[in-house]
Amino acid sequence: MKLLLEKFKKFAEEVHKLVCPPATQDLELNTKNRDAAIQAEHIQYGPLNVSEPENYWQNIAAHWNTSEKAARKSLCGNCVAFDISPRMKDCMPGETSDQDGQLGYCWMHHFKCHSARSCYTWAKGGPIKDDNKSAEWQEKNKSSLGVTKSRLKEIIEEELTSIINEEELFYEVDALDINEEYCPVCQETQGLDEDEKKPCKPSKGKRFAKRVDGKCRSFGQAGKAKDGGDRIRPGTAKADAYCARSAKIKKCKNPPCANTLSRKKWKCQGSKSVA
Ligand code: SF4
Repeated sequence: MKLLLEKFKKFAEEVHKLVCPPATQDLELNTKNRDAAIQAEHIQYGPLNVSEPENYWQNIAAHWNTSEKAARKSLCGNCVAFDISPRMKDCMPGETSDQDGQLGYCWMHHFKCHSARSCYTWAKGGPIKDDNKSAEWQEKNKSSLGVTKSRLKEIIEEELTSIINEEELFYEVDALDINEEYCPVCQETQGLDEDEKKPCKPSKGKRFAKRVDGKCRSFGQAGKAKDGGDRIRPGTAKADAYCARSAKIKKCKNPPCANTLSRKKWKCQGSKSVA
């Protein structure tokens, strides 16, 4: 169940990325779009420094053929394309407000813009505060999101089916002792006789034993390391060397065999030991 929940959590995070505008999840893309909005003659996003606007407001007032006072009131913060809905706030990583205002998503130029700035394409009617309104803008802009609603539905269905199928194939129970060999549920379902239910003892010179198909299988070198510590120390150079060596050993006919069981103890993933 824990595994299933972890998979759902990871999947939910992936879906979250898909439903958020890409620029809110990708700093490089956001910066590229913002810089383009600053440079473009028909956009002129600014001022760069809200406290030191230089002649930004005079210029924009001239462009709109209005007064500087009116221009200063036409901000991203009240633009029709400025999205500060709850769902969009969820898409924004980190702090979204400062002493001058807050960040929102600009649906016209696709970057995180600041409420105290403006641009030539400002239009009244904002901000977008409602999730439904935000979803409408997203639907209108679906080509820029890289995933459509129907594709998203397909992805969700495919992923959930594969997670559920995987969960049906594997059933995990906690081991009761260090040998990890006692699995009451497995024994019941396999109909093993009394002898076959007994815990296995490691053979001479071996540290662990595990019952596989009713038979005991011993593995792992017994004893301590030279310094008196545990021989098996996943994540160390020694462990990597072990994993690299054992990865070259051919798979046996009736797995899991000793090599596979030992590799599990060393936490081998390919030729690396991942602690
Ligand atoms: S279109 Fe509106 S929200 Fe976007 S940058 Fe211009 S003023 Fe800001």
